[in-house]
Amino acid sequence: MVTRRRFLGTLGASALIVGFDPTTRAWATGAGSRSVQRIPHLDGVLLTDLPTRQADGRDLGRIVSRLPRAVLRPGSVRDVQKMIAFCREHRIPVATRGQGHSTHGQGLTDGLIIENRSLAAIHSVGADSISVDSGVLWREAAHAAAARGLTPPLFTTYVGLSVGGTLSVGGFPAQNELGLQIDHVRELDVVTGDGRLHRCSPDRERDLFEVMLGGLGQCGVITRATIDLVPARGLARNYLLQYPTTDTARVWADLHVLLERRELDGAYILMFAPDGKTVVYQLNGVVFYDAGRAPDDGRLLRGLSVPASSAAVVDSTYLEWVERYDRVIDGWRRQYAWDDLLKPWFDVILPGETAQGYVSEVVPTLTARDFGPPTGIGFVFPQRRSKLTRPFFRVPPGDSEFVYLFDVLTSSPAPGPDPAFAAEMLDRNRRLYDKARALGGTRYPIGSLDFTGDDWRAQYGERWPDLLRRKARYDPGRILTPGPGIFS
Ligand SMILES: Cc1cc2nc3c(=O)[nH]c(=O)nc-3n(C[C@H](O)[C@H](O)[C@H](O)COP(=O)(O)OP(=O)(O)OC[C@H]3O[C@@H](n4cnc5c(N)ncnc54)[C@H](O)[C@@H]3O)c2cc1C
Repeated sequence: MVTRRRFLGTLGASALIVGFDPTTRAWATGAGSRSVQRIPHLDGVLLTDLPTRQADGRDLGRIVSRLPRAVLRPGSVRDVQKMIAFCREHRIPVATRGQGHSTHGQGLTDGLIIENRSLAAIHSVGADSISVDSGVLWREAAHAAAARGLTPPLFTTYVGLSVGGTLSVGGFPAQNELGLQIDHVRELDVVTGDGRLHRCSPDRERDLFEVMLGGLGQCGVITRATIDLVPARGLARNYLLQYPTTDTARVWADLHVLLERRELDGAYILMFAPDGKTVVYQLNGVVFYDAGRAPDDGRLLRGLSVPASSAAVVDSTYLEWVERYDRVIDGWRRQYAWDDLLKPWFDVILPGETAQGYVSEVVPTLTARDFGPPTGIGFVFPQRRSKLTRPFFRVPPGDSEFVYLFDVLTSSPAPGPDPAFAAEMLDRNRRLYDKARALGGTRYPIGSLDFTGDDWRAQYGERWPDLLRRKARYDPGRILTPGPGIFS
């Protein structure tokens, strides 16, 4: 947990802000002008030095930048409340920053950034739930729970993401039968756009609870979350089966066999181009188990189009499995300056009726520009529709048993600005999105797509009037999370 002393230690690097001048709309470091409105006393700090603002003025996509006027490193939830109330009064937009791993400015603003990482306490680990500040990383929650033999039921592929960040978008896992991370939240503490702190759950302030889960930070700032825990198995076995793209039908058929049998803990498709040209599909299956009860590979992989013996088998501890992509990303960070590559990511959710046809048509059109090795990869994550319970997480309409998240995680060939590459890939994303939408797809809004007001209305469909109503109620000044551009 970050202490007040550490906050104060950062002060030397920047001038201390005392107020905001509504006439010049600038922060003031002295009480000089009479119009300066003093900022409330804070437990943490408000920073305006350029390096801090620049660091929080961009995200992992490296495509969009927006310089905030100031950055709050809160020392308490009270700080978040006070500064949101202050910003509302002075019509200053506010965005919360988790790990800033969005790719298209979703968490950026030219107003105030609240660095949520400053609030990162693990409050309690109980027999079946964990209560954490929203700046806690999923990796940290996993380790805290593991110390008690427990685990959150689901993780994203990479677990260096903040709890608040993934709960604001959804949190799609490798598992297929348990819904998303947002489906396993019991209670939230939320500061709404008027600076008030609420505790909400399915039984208490349900309107707010629902609109915060997958709600893209439009109605409040999550400061604390209570999340389900389940008993953890100690070990994981991962099966990897490879197919050429010409065998699209076979990889999907095998995926469906595994999904229908429900014997694995998770199954998904990974796509990559090992030679830089031709994309291959890798069917990934995982099963969790306890020591001394090794899974029967032949039985679990029976009836597939490829022999069970052709599967590469990777054994690990459960926690190593949870962190499997963290090691990959850490390596990319060291070797390829991955943080500074442009990441025009494309992410869409498709209904079962059209997913296979769409992916099979799109993937062969992708080239080394889209899937350039080693950091360009893609995924198909199936999820059972009936497990998706949160109304503001937009699921494609339809009756299919499963919906499918399709990601194309493109990155630029070299670090640094490359406007032509960014423009080319944003065009591609628009094309792919339009095609997906015509087939019933919805956007998973973590990626890079220029979305208009009409696009957002289509995304929310019959939920749009309800979203407007909740926005008006919880963020009456419309100051929160302007990045996605939903209400602009
Ligand atoms: C390597 C990698 C792998 C990934 N794998 C997956 C995956 O498997 N499944 C999946 O679903 N996603 C995945 N993602 C996407 C990821 O879940 C989202 O981008 C997530 O929002 C990032 O978390 P963050 O802490 O960086 O959030 P940020 O990017 O900081 O914030 C995301 C959005 O939420 C808002 N926000 C942040 N914190 C709060 C809060 N406390 N209260 C209210 N609003 C808030 C921000 O303002 C912003 O709009 C992956 C991302 C990366 C980089």
